[in-house]
Amino acid sequence: MALVVQKYGGTSVGSIERIQNVARRVAKAYDEGNDIVVVLSAMSGETNKLVALANEICEFPSEREYDVLVSTGEQVTIALLSMCLQSMGYKAKSYTAAQIPIRTDSAHTRARISSIDDQRVREDLRNGTIIVVPGFQGVDPEGNLTTLGRGGSDTSAVAVAAALKADVCEIFTDVDGVYTTDPRIVPEASKIEKISYDEMLEMASLGAKVLQIRSVEFAKKYGVVIHVRSSFNDNPGTLVMKEDPEMEAVLVAGVTYNKDEAKISVMRVPDKPGIAAQLFTSLSQSNVTVDMIIQNVSHDGFTDMTFTVPHGDYKKAMKIVEGTATGIGASEVKGDEHIAKVSIVGVGMRSHSGVASQMFACLAQEGINVHMISTSEIKISCIIDSKYTELAVRVLHESFGLSGEDVQQETL
Ligand code: ASP
Ligand code: MG
Repeated sequence: MALVVQKYGGTSVGSIERIQNVARRVAKAYDEGNDIVVVLSAMSGETNKLVALANEICEFPSEREYDVLVSTGEQVTIALLSMCLQSMGYKAKSYTAAQIPIRTDSAHTRARISSIDDQRVREDLRNGTIIVVPGFQGVDPEGNLTTLGRGGSDTSAVAVAAALKADVCEIFTDVDGVYTTDPRIVPEASKIEKISYDEMLEMASLGAKVLQIRSVEFAKKYGVVIHVRSSFNDNPGTLVMKEDPEMEAVLVAGVTYNKDEAKISVMRVPDKPGIAAQLFTSLSQSNVTVDMIIQNVSHDGFTDMTFTVPHGDYKKAMKIVEGTATGIGASEVKGDEHIAKVSIVGVGMRSHSGVASQMFACLAQEGINVHMISTSEIKISCIIDSKYTELAVRVLHESFGLSGEDVQQETL
């Protein structure tokens, strides 16, 4: 007998039929002799609707009230699933985050979980009850409702699994697992059987959208094994877990891309101490996060600097940088919105040489120019013209031998 936390995302609970389908899955796992705690998202589209309502009422809704509003989507689904399970003859009970409680800090709209009380849940589990709790919700030390940021139900599920020392945290979604790349671009992409926390963190922050990044950080910290799988079939999904020697043997685990960045270059910047600090302090003060940075070798006391920012912040960043550039005596600021970042990720890179050269050669062969490069121990990212994104992803996927035959994607 195991303690299983099952989390179902928005599409999995998107209609009454689908909630009934979830209830059957939960019941099956229970009948197999497991203790079950279910964590639910709101019905798909529901949170967006609530956010839109808030924005219709006023331009800058108070964050406290925003949380009271948007956390209601999850309260709907937990009650409906509990009712459904009860009607099937099971003992089931929903609890809101405040009732458990799932405690967070007071950072409304992006709160962090600090602790989860397991007493109530354990008592209920002992008498055979299926527990249903909302994702995304929390309660701060003053008793205010909080939310964890969009996609936060994944983190709720992992945190609940950690608090209960569950055997596994199953994250049910509308895809079969984590793929070697986006199957919409490469139909031969294959499902990854198991992936390390660090690889998953890189993949998630580089563009793969299966899990909220924070949930993976949480899982790594507490050693929670995550099983990402589909709620529409019984196929085994992807295990996100501690690194093992088999993972090291694979050169590259996945290829990701992100078209959501823009590039800014500052030309002929005086090469002296304090200049970079000035440039980037003005950006950080305006909450613009900078990703890659390159400083060229300097000539005659001047250098060029290039960096990337989120696409949504491009115009704002250009304005700030143009202002600062004049102040520090730079000659010109150039921007490029049509770039993309393609990356390869894999723990195998740590112990194998030649991965970077293979990536560059592969891009060169297709005539794709690399504008910027950044690396970590387990990833290599290149900035290229965005029009080549799909081509780059396809050739890299092919070159590192990631294509599989048994590829299946759930179409909804
Ligand atoms: N319902 C929330 C959202 O749409 C949380 C989640 O589904 O993970 O962002
Ligand atoms: Mg989600």
